[in-house]
Amino acid sequence: MGTGVTDGGELKKVVVGGYCVGCGACAALDPAIQMRFDDMQRLGAVLPVDRKPSLAAAQSCPFGDGNPDEDEIAQGLYADPEIRQDQRIGRHLKTFGGWVEEGAFRERASSGGIGTWLQCELLSKGLVDSVLNVAEVDVAGGEAPLFSFTVARTRDEVVANAKTRYYPIEMSEVLRFVLETPGRYAVIGVPCFCKALRLATRQSPELADRLHFVLGIVCGHLKSGAFADSLAWQCGITPDELTGIDFRSKLAARPASRYGVTVEGLRDGEPITLTRPMEGLVGANWGHGLFKYKACEFCDDVLAETADAVVGDAWLPEYDGDHRGANVVIARSRTILELLEAGAREGRLRLDMLTADQVAASQAGGLRHRRDGLRYRLKMVDDQGDWRPRKRVEPGADHLSPSLRKIHRLRFELGQKSHAAFEQARKSGDLNEFLGVMSPLIAHYESHMHPSLFRRCVNFSLRKVLALRARFSRA
Ligand SMILES: Cc1cc2nc3c(=O)[nH]c(=O)nc-3n(C[C@H](O)[C@H](O)[C@H](O)COP(=O)(O)OP(=O)(O)OC[C@H]3O[C@@H](n4cnc5c(N)ncnc54)[C@H](O)[C@@H]3O)c2cc1C
Ligand code: SF4
Ligand code: SF4
Repeated sequence: MGTGVTDGGELKKVVVGGYCVGCGACAALDPAIQMRFDDMQRLGAVLPVDRKPSLAAAQSCPFGDGNPDEDEIAQGLYADPEIRQDQRIGRHLKTFGGWVEEGAFRERASSGGIGTWLQCELLSKGLVDSVLNVAEVDVAGGEAPLFSFTVARTRDEVVANAKTRYYPIEMSEVLRFVLETPGRYAVIGVPCFCKALRLATRQSPELADRLHFVLGIVCGHLKSGAFADSLAWQCGITPDELTGIDFRSKLAARPASRYGVTVEGLRDGEPITLTRPMEGLVGANWGHGLFKYKACEFCDDVLAETADAVVGDAWLPEYDGDHRGANVVIARSRTILELLEAGAREGRLRLDMLTADQVAASQAGGLRHRRDGLRYRLKMVDDQGDWRPRKRVEPGADHLSPSLRKIHRLRFELGQKSHAAFEQARKSGDLNEFLGVMSPLIAHYESHMHPSLFRRCVNFSLRKVLALRARFSRA
């Protein structure tokens, strides 16, 4: 496959085309590139105007055309004789479902806590000196960002940064820290960030020498900062009052997948915290893809195929019943596998062997969207004659029925329209402006997703209206 983009100017195609996911890898290697939030609360690279970005920056971009793809990178990294390849989940030594038994890892985490546990294990076993993960930022009401990458040096610091953040964050600052500060580091990131790190290590001997472990997080898609604002606003805290958010509050006596959101803010100058279930909030349904980066519509890695291990939610019936949450875990590196297996032997982890099929089933929706759906989106861009990044699937439409094509078009539209709709609402200070635009679009999308259910609901409502009218006309 690719040997790397051959001109720093290639990065412009990514940024101008809207395919920048805001990882910050390019900015770490080229100080003239800035990472900034746009009006729609998406982080992205701002390229220098007086010269081309450096070649190293362009060759670190996960969306740079011609840069090595996930298959090529993983092939170079994971050559263990027992490694197996699967087109959906990537290379793997073993695959598990489970959670952390010891301490409060599971309680404090988004799902089973194995993501945080692995980072702590790498520190305690002396395999790394620091971990790059994501921390809450102390802000006054309405300030951003709410979260950012940080350098955690102790177990306590790692544990304090548990929980996944559906929020724009970027790595340029922490990577510059690594470049300036010798040591052994582990880092955790969504799949495209892991790919960017692997590409960046090919450009920088210091990064290659210092980044000892890359841990992955399964990823459906990334959200703009407006996702946090909109959830908080629907809970009764306006964007100007918001000071913090937990996107994954575990709610007792409910399935793990029916989690809640906790928002913190200021009301009349006084701190206030509110928790409520996610269902019913506009944007809470991940299938709707509200506030999604455009780049995520053109991504084909769900399970961080270039990471030494990846953790995700065990969205499987055998785990979902327990509100405390569980992970799916894929081990690709022998060292990580040994840590996991030792943890299970010592009773510190609960690990069940899963098959690749089970892991893929836990992410079935994401995989369909990023394989079948992606092929169709690539074709749509090609039909318009626009540039787009090269992907591991071929463009096409014939594999989808006309109704599925329509669903993919509507879903794409939902995601892209949500950005401007929310920005408009934020400017006018009226949440209804956002809800008024999105609710009919969501209803239209749902009518195509569940036509018979939708028809049954409409018929039921019609029957009710007719019955009420008959009653009132008799009276
Ligand atoms: C944008 C996004 C989309 C996701 N989509 C899916 C999905 O479709 N399917 C699925 O199964 N799981 C998805 N996840 C992962 C899921 O939310 C859980 O995080 C995962 O199951 C790991 O749980 P844990 O309990 O082991 O993690 P925890 O123990 O809670 O640890 C999470 C670790 O990740 C770090 N972190 C948090 N946010 C980020 C971030 N944005 N980037 C890098 N590091 C971060 C934290 O600092 C912490 O160290 C997504 C996560 C993110 C951030
Ligand atoms: S390297 Fe990351 S931040 Fe830079 S252009 Fe590519 S996606 Fe955007
Ligand atoms: S969906 Fe893909 S591009 Fe988007 S954040 Fe996740 S890994 Fe990155």
